[in-house]
Parts: sequence; C-alpha cells; structure tokens
Amino acid sequence: MIIRYNEQLQPYNSFRTKATAKMFCEPVSMAELSEITRTFPDEQKLVLGSGSNLFFTKDFDGLVIKPAIKGIHILSETDDFVEIEAGAAEDWDEFVAYCVKNGYAGIENLSLIPSSVGASPVQNIGAYGTEARDVIAKVKTIALQTGDYQEFSNEKCQFGYRDSIFKRTGLYVITSVVFKLEKSFQYKEKYIDLRRELEGIPSPTLMQVRETIIRIRNRKLPDYKVLANAGSFFKNPILTEEEKVQLQQKLPDAPIYNAGEGTFKTSAAFLIDKAGYKGKREGMVGTYTHHSLIIVNYGTESGSEIVDFMHKIQQEVQQQFGLLLEPEVGIY
Ligand SMILES: Cc1cc2nc3c(=O)[nH]c(=O)nc-3n(C[C@H](O)[C@H](O)[C@H](O)COP(=O)(O)OP(=O)(O)OC[C@H]3O[C@@H](n4cnc5c(N)ncnc54)[C@H](O)[C@@H]3O)c2cc1C
Repeated sequence: MIIRYNEQLQPYNSFRTKATAKMFCEPVSMAELSEITRTFPDEQKLVLGSGSNLFFTKDFDGLVIKPAIKGIHILSETDDFVEIEAGAAEDWDEFVAYCVKNGYAGIENLSLIPSSVGASPVQNIGAYGTEARDVIAKVKTIALQTGDYQEFSNEKCQFGYRDSIFKRTGLYVITSVVFKLEKSFQYKEKYIDLRRELEGIPSPTLMQVRETIIRIRNRKLPDYKVLANAGSFFKNPILTEEEKVQLQQKLPDAPIYNAGEGTFKTSAAFLIDKAGYKGKREGMVGTYTHHSLIIVNYGTESGSEIVDFMHKIQQEVQQQFGLLLEPEVGIY
C-alpha cells in the first residue's frame, strides 16, 4: 500500500482551497483499508470521497484515507425489487445513471449530486423529495480505530436530515453501500419544481425524471468545476414551535415546513437573502447570484477567507432573526 507524504489537497476539494496532508493513501480493498488503520492507530484520520462537501483551512496533520474500492454487483433480485451493492469509490451520478438505464427506481431524484457512493449515507444526501435513507438497505464499513469490519442496517445508520451516525461520530470508513431499489416505476409527485417541469408528460419514465432533474440542476446550480463551491453551505434551520412564532413575527412571509415531531423547517436561503447577502461578494468569496445558500469561491486558495465570509453571514442572520445557521459543509 503506497503512502504519499505532504500531498497537496487542492485537487481533492471542490472549493479548491490549498492545504497539505501529512500522509495520504487510496486503499483499493477492505483488507488494505483494515491494514492501514491498524498500522497507524495513533494518527488523526480523515476520510475523503470526491471532496464536494468539505474544504481545508489548514494543513492536515494526519492520514487522509481516500477509499478506492469500486464495483457494482446485484446481490439479490425478486420480481419487484433488486438489492444492489456499490463500492465507496463509485461515482454517485454514474451509479444513478446505471440504475436508471436498467430500470431500477428510487434514486433518480438524486441525479447529478456530486458525490462518491461512499459519502451518500454520511450526510444522507437528499434532493427533490428523496433522501438516500429511503433506499439504503445496508452500509458496510471498517472502523477507523480498530480496523474491524462492521455492518449497519438502515436503522442502525440513525439517519436524520443531512445527518447519520457516520457524520456524527466520524469513526467509520464506508467501503460499500447496499441499496434496495424497485423494478417497476410509477412517478409519484414529490416536488413542485419537478411537477412544473414535467407538465404535459402524464406518466414520465424513469429516464425522463432523471433528465428533467439534470436540466433543473444545471439551470439553478453553479458548475463547481467552473465556479468553485460545495453546494448548499448551510443546513436549513429546524425550529421549535416557539422559534417558529418568533421568526414569523419578524418575517411573516418566511417559508415554514413541517419537520415532524413538533418541529418546523425554514429556508436558510430566504434568511440569507433577507439579511442582505443575496449575491453579495467580498473579495474572492460571495454568495451565488441565483442561489444564496451557495457560497462560491471566485479565486482564493485560502479556506480562512471562506470561513470569514461564513461568519459574517451567520452573525448577520443571528442578529436580525435570532437563528444560528449551521454549516452543512465540513471545514477542516
Ligand atoms: C454543486 C453541488 C451541489 C450539491 N447538491 C447537493 C444536494 O442536492 N443534496 C445533497 O445532499 N448534497 C449536495 N451537495 C453536497 C455533496 O454533493 C454531498 O454531501 C456528497 O455526498 C459529498 O460526497 P463526496 O464524495 O464529495 O464527499 P466528501 O466531500 O469527500 O466528504 C463529505 C463527508 O463524508 C465523509 N466521507 C466521504 N467518504 C466517506 C466514506 N467512504 N466513509 C466515511 N466517510 C466518508 C467525509 O469525511 C466528510 O465528512 C452538493 C455539492 C455541490 C458541490
């Protein structure tokens, strides 16, 4: 197993910030992964996927592990369902394309999310009314501290909104994910943007749904390969009843959605707009003109500049509306 020293991490994060890793490796199998964690028990470790939900503010004084485990296999199949396993290093959107092409339904709404398969359970990726947890049957891992194999059922993953046991603990490397997908497809309406776009198509096919989502996303979101970013920078705040009432007094038109168990969700993008940060740029960092939730990097290589800008948005939103915006993006 090759370990590279002082590896530049700029190519490995979609915000393109500069930092080096003391050690960097790309294990291609569970055995290699297990061996590497056992060889360096005392090193601080960071698992990296395709780097589209994190950036660096300083050098990483430890071991960066970027799993290179590939492969897509059907594990079992009935007339109605297929259980399919994909390696952590598979590209998420290529996996979605493969499933759609083969008529396996359940992840088409997650088309074009930049991700590795291995990162998909970490923050329980979601879009257009679908979340990864809806279709994940099992997650296979190696524990970072012991190098031991451990399997998680859907329930054991403790999925939440952009959350899971993997994100909360940071203790596991996901090696592969098993998805349970449907072999028949009937379009169910889950999201208003999608409904508008599909108007005139009474029974859209799986492929038509995927193509429509790709079209909407290409229109709304900046291409991170051209304008560096990490997607939605903040989570949408979850509010108690009391916080909801307070927010409605300050912003009567704030969008409020039921988030279950007596809680409510509001839109972080709306709060950022109202705080005066819509399309605002300071130096080399700003919010994307068409979508305030996305912080874009116009050319800095320093993660600290992005963090400074993030703090300004947080302070302004907190001062004006009494809510703390929590970053969705990982900052290292
Ligand atoms: C333009 C754009 C649009 C986006 N749109 C969406 C969206 O619609 N919905 C959404 O949910 N997200 C979205 N995101 C965020 C991002 O795509 C997801 O968070 C994605 O899952 C990150 O995958 P990654 O492989 O790049 O992970 P990374 O950024 O490399 O890592 C993210 C986190 O997962 C951990 N991790 C990565 N791989 C593993 C592994 N194998 N085992 C254990 N931990 C691991 C890392 O340690 C880190 O904590 C978007 C990002 C961009 C840039």
